[in-house]
Order: sequence, then structure tokens, then C-alpha cells
Amino acid sequence: MAPTYDVVIVGAGPGGLMAARTAGAAGLRVALLERKKDIPKIHRSCGGVLNLNEPTYDQIVTLDEDNHLIQCTTMGWTIHYDGPFQNVYGFHIYSPGGRRLEFGNFAELRKNPKQNRMGASISKEQLLRQLLTEAENHGVAVFPNTNVCSVKKEGTAVVVECENGEEYAGAFVIAADGINSRLARVLKFNKEREFYGTSRDTSLTIQGTDCPDPDGFLFMITPRGIFSMIPLAEAGCYHIYASTMRRDEKPPELLRYFVTEAPTFSAWYRNSTILKHRTACVVSLMSPIEHPFRDNVLFIGDACWRREISNVGAMCSGYKAATVIADALNRGKTDEEGIREYLEWYAKHYYGPFGKRKQGGRDFTQYLTPDDIDYLASLPEEKFPQTLDIFKVVNHIGKVYGELMTRIYEERPDTMERMIQVRENMEEDMKKRISWGFKIV
Ligand SMILES: Cc1cc2nc3c(=O)[nH]c(=O)nc-3n(C[C@H](O)[C@H](O)[C@H](O)COP(=O)(O)OP(=O)(O)OC[C@H]3O[C@@H](n4cnc5c(N)ncnc54)[C@H](O)[C@@H]3O)c2cc1C
Repeated sequence: MAPTYDVVIVGAGPGGLMAARTAGAAGLRVALLERKKDIPKIHRSCGGVLNLNEPTYDQIVTLDEDNHLIQCTTMGWTIHYDGPFQNVYGFHIYSPGGRRLEFGNFAELRKNPKQNRMGASISKEQLLRQLLTEAENHGVAVFPNTNVCSVKKEGTAVVVECENGEEYAGAFVIAADGINSRLARVLKFNKEREFYGTSRDTSLTIQGTDCPDPDGFLFMITPRGIFSMIPLAEAGCYHIYASTMRRDEKPPELLRYFVTEAPTFSAWYRNSTILKHRTACVVSLMSPIEHPFRDNVLFIGDACWRREISNVGAMCSGYKAATVIADALNRGKTDEEGIREYLEWYAKHYYGPFGKRKQGGRDFTQYLTPDDIDYLASLPEEKFPQTLDIFKVVNHIGKVYGELMTRIYEERPDTMERMIQVRENMEEDMKKRISWGFKIV
């Protein structure tokens, strides 16, 4: 079949929409297929935080609120954004008794928000709407309510097959269908990927909190697991998340416990109003795809990742994929050779630094007592450097606690004994998580 389009893009999240807008702007004939009826509507959990001002996969994104622009200064893309936002300054991790590891002193940082924020919670719906409008203005043919089932190579074309019987052919396909990508499964990538278990997340939104520094990405450790909270775009509103990989736990029940019963933290929500909007997601965690190209289908964003490549990570990969495909088509190179630059870029900035990292465990709350965790949280004498990069957080914690081991052993041998158990049981705990999960092959 002869290609009808230059590129067919499957999935209209931040990755697919950025790819569509960029390919359309480059003059390509583009079809964008999305299973949702109302493309910008958010059903699946996402905090809507954009990482700003520190490198995300080596790219820097900034928010210029005076000129209503979100800009990637390193790649050169810009999106008009005049919606609401709240600043996010970094991570704080709370122990059960309320001690915290602070990645940034928010009280100091909020004195100069424009310079000091590491992120902003924005309206993802408005961001997606803007990208969609621009894609349409560039002539992209948009097909909502179109569920893609399969993809196959036919001669020089790739043909995408949909549930409604329609077919769309392109010289290239960009698979931007998100985590647990159907196209990754169809093209048999999942057989080669490691599986780490299935996580179920639920969030609720609240207005008002008595949390002392709510303008960050906050993790709260409780006897019943770890919860998180982040600002929403609207002033004074927040998302609270519960997440579990256990089959016997119900995320909505965990959320109820957290806001009404959890020691230390439920007090933050006594005066909160719980808003109607709730989101949820189920994610089967698999190792990222090392070589995200097969049969002229190029995978971007979450479609080739473990989970949460991030909105910035997805948009940058969409932009790069569309740019490289436009160049390949200009050169008449409609094969892997044509898009090699994308694969090298992905290897350098995504897979190389982050792809091989093992999925860590979270089961330390099953071993350490609340008192152990309070004690451990009291040890670091200085605040940690400000960041909104979870990989940096893990590295800093590893380094600081590595240096504190002798002291912990001397002061609290029982705590040390339980810390050793966490480590010794890591593999067994991972096996359990895998057995509770649903592998998608
Ligand atoms: C609980 C949670 C909180 C998060 N919070 C943040 C945050 O605060 N900040 C941040 O940067 N990132 C966050 N993320 C991650 C972020 O949501 C993703 O990394 C990002 O949305 C990935 O973009 P994407 O375009 O690759 O995929 P997606 O946004 O998942 O988009 C994929 C699109 O493809 C469509 N699709 C799927 N299958 C098909 C099909 N068969 N046919 C047609 N269409 C299909 C889907 O409907 C969807 O619109 C969070 C994720 C989770 C789970």
C-alpha cells in the first residue's frame, strides 16, 4: 500500500501532540489517531507538573509568565500558555513523625519564584488543547475516538489498523500511545523487557491544606505506605496520591486513611475541602526499550519507558522524533538509516543515563518502625541541594546515608539490623511484587 501520510502518529498525549505539531509545521502530511473522544481531557493520573530550570534528559524548559510562554531553550520549541499555575520548588520527604528531608529550603526559595522554582503545576488540559489547536492549524488530520489495534509493514508503508476498521498508512509511524503501549506489545517488544510488577494509583484533589510548605513535591511516609502531594495549577489546590503494588490493598481506602487517620499528616487536611475530580491509573512496570524502532515504527515518550518519562521528557522526544523524520523524508531515507539521529539522541540522553537502572523497592516501611524512620530522618545535618529530579534525590540519599552507616550501627544497632533485612530481602520482595502484577506480553 502506498503511504497516504508521511507520518501517522498514534496517541495524543504531550508526546504525540508535540510530534504532530512539529511534523505539521515542517510541512509533512500527518495523521494523528487518538482513542479519547475529547483529546485534551485528562482521565489518567498526572500531576501536571512541568520540570523547569534544571536539566530534564539534558533539556532545559522555562516558564515565561509575562509573555505566556513555555520554552525549551536547548531544543528551541515554544508553546503559548496563559493558564493558571503554581510554583513547585523541590522535594520534601516526611518521616511518620513529621521530620523531613528537604531538597530545597522553600521559605528562602519562594522569595524569588521566577528564578528559584524547579517546576510549575500547570493545567495539562490547557497545554494539550494548545498543542492540538496548533497541530490542526498546521494541517494535521486529527482522528479522535480512534482506538488503534495493530500495525504492520506493507512494502514501503506502515499500516495502522483501528478498532473501527479504518486503516492509515504512512512512511513512518510514531508510537506515542503511552505507558503499556499496545503497539509495543504488537511489535513484540515486551517479550524482551524485564517486568517489575503492577502499580495502581489513585489521586484526589483538595482545596486548602495546613501542610507547612505545600509548594513542592512531597512524600509522606506512614505506617501504611508512602503517599505524595503536589500542587495543582489552581491556587490553593493539591493532588494527593496513593499508590500500591499489593493486590490486597485498595488505593481509595489508603487515601481515606491518609487524609483522615494517618498520624501527623491527617491534621493537614482537617480544614481541606475534597473536590470532585479524581483520577487513577494502572501501570505494569517494564524496563525501557533500548532500541525503540521496529518496522518503521518509532516509539517516543512513555510508550517505550518504564513509567513517567514526564511531560517534558515526552514533549522533547516528540519534537526530536518529528524533526528527524522530516529530515529523513527530505533526504528520501524512509528506513532506520533515515532516523538514526533520533536513536543516537535517545541513547545519549534517555536510555544511556537512565534506561538500565533497576526498578527500586519501596518496602522499607514493612521492616523499619516509624521510630526508626524518624531517627534516620533526624540524622542529616544539612538540607539537601534543591532538585525536582528523583534520580538526583536517590543519589543524594544514598551518598549521605552511606556516610552515616557507622554512626547508625553504633547508636541504633536494632535499626541497623532492620535496615540490613530490607537489603537482604530486596530480591524476595521484588519476586513477590512480580507475582502480584500483570505482565503484558
Ligand atoms: C500518577 C502519575 C503522576 C504523574 N505526574 C506527573 C507530573 O506531575 N509531571 C510530569 O511531568 N509527569 C507526570 N507523570 C507522567 C506523565 O503523565 C507522562 O510521562 C506523560 O503524560 C507521557 O506522555 P506521553 O505522550 O508519552 O503519553 P500519554 O500522556 O500517556 O499519552 C498517550 C496517549 O495515547 C492514547 N492511546 C493509548 N493507547 C491508544 C490506542 N491504542 N489508540 C489510540 N490512542 C491511544 C492515550 O489515550 C493518550 O492520550 C505522572 C504519571 C503518573 C502515573
